[in-house]
Amino acid sequence: MIIVMKPNATKENISNVVKKLESRGLRAHLSEGEEVTIVGVIGEKKIIANLEMNMMDGVEKTVRITEKYKMVSRNFHPQNTIIKVGDVEIGGDELVVMAGPCSVESLDQIRETAQAVKNSGAKFLRGGAFKPRTSPYDFQGLGEEGLKILRQAADEFNLKVITEVVDREDIALMEKYTDVIQVGARNMQNFQMLKALGKTNKPVLLKRGLSATISEWLNAAEYIMSGGNENVIFCERGIRTFETFTRNTLDLSAVAAIKELSHLPIIADPSHGTGRWQMVQPMARAAVAAGCDGLIIEVHPHPEFALSDGDQSLTPKNFDRLMKDLKSIAEIMGRKL
Ligand code: PEP
Ligand code: MN
Repeated sequence: MIIVMKPNATKENISNVVKKLESRGLRAHLSEGEEVTIVGVIGEKKIIANLEMNMMDGVEKTVRITEKYKMVSRNFHPQNTIIKVGDVEIGGDELVVMAGPCSVESLDQIRETAQAVKNSGAKFLRGGAFKPRTSPYDFQGLGEEGLKILRQAADEFNLKVITEVVDREDIALMEKYTDVIQVGARNMQNFQMLKALGKTNKPVLLKRGLSATISEWLNAAEYIMSGGNENVIFCERGIRTFETFTRNTLDLSAVAAIKELSHLPIIADPSHGTGRWQMVQPMARAAVAAGCDGLIIEVHPHPEFALSDGDQSLTPKNFDRLMKDLKSIAEIMGRKL
């Protein structure tokens, strides 16, 4: 349920509403807009079903929410949420680009990439230190050594770090080295991990599962938010369809759907979304035009030697072209880049 307060509701009116909710064992989630305050009610369904709030002073109306996800819902929080990572804002006016190789392979590789993507305008350095590979015989990542390399190169070139967690046990380690924790497609419904991420103070980038519906994805974000971490960013990275020319089908309708259903930011990953470096630029353009808040793009100094995802990785030169190319579309969309 949400409780919409009257435009002239006083602080006392709002505080009385909150007190009443708390007295029933419910939680109130306040969203203070320019004109009205909306109180989201969280708690047991049965108690909420019997709740009568319309008669209270300052209450305009109550609206029952039928979706299972609540804190994630735009009904709960009509304004867009902006997630701050130091001096970088995700979901604000500026499009945020995260770039780097699929896997951290060496300090030289990461330093070279970091310098290049920084010069082209990226704000985040990406790279996997723990790799969720389809085959156990493929490169599994450098582990903590990889995290150290990422942090060192990012600090040298004034970039933020985003990297993937694949095991709940590693969250504390992640907190030490990264600015944003990435949940990969294969772990989108690892509910124990999502619950644990509800307790971290790092923002979480939640990639869409390989075959996840929009509703399953929103509910996965609800796990993190209801655990206490309200800084969740969605990432559309393509879904599995009958098509085999591309690695996945980048579902840009999901960008529009998430914008309609949720207040949280969403970025797109045209690298995993297509699996082909030739398609990264056109789909990045399309994603910006669809209204995403940023992009995550795989860049490798020598894609032909990459230990993972070389086929979808841009060279630094092609990444630079892409960033220049995106400026005009960003401008049309009223965004800075
Ligand atoms: C990655 O970002 O390198 C990755 C493994 O992504 P996804 O979880 O989307 O497959
Ligand atoms: Mn990859």
